Amino acid sequence: MTEPTSCIFCAIINKKITARIEKESANVLAFHDTNPVAPVHILIVPKVHVNNIYQMSNEDSSLLGEIILTANFVAKANKLDQTGYRLVINTGEDAGQTVHHVHCHVIGGRSLAWPPG
Ligand code: AMP
Ligand code: ZN
Repeated sequence: MTEPTSCIFCAIINKKITARIEKESANVLAFHDTNPVAPVHILIVPKVHVNNIYQMSNEDSSLLGEIILTANFVAKANKLDQTGYRLVINTGEDAGQTVHHVHCHVIGGRSLAWPPG
């Protein structure tokens, strides 16, 4: 998909705006959320622009795998693997998706309530 000029995550990927980067590969970028909801709150995005996870398909299975495995790396690097953490992929307005470039939240470092609101 062509990246929209207004996409803030594409701007981070293209280094047009700065972010606190945690890990970068050829396909995926992990960076800290600017409005963290927990002591550790990191976002993992594919470098290619896709609006949401529902638009991904079998062709994206390797990319989806890399996103989740990057979450594993981030969790271990931030010592979340001992205590637990949550991966969240908000999809669509009712789920609270505000940035329409698919992203996986890694949230941890405190006890998390369930179910979410
Ligand atoms: P969502 O509500 O699932 O779409 O999550 C979007 C997330 O992006 C929110 O947690 C925001 O705090 C975060 N965010 C928005 N702009 C930036 C930015 N420039 N750098 C890092 N995180 C951002
Ligand atoms: Zn984008």
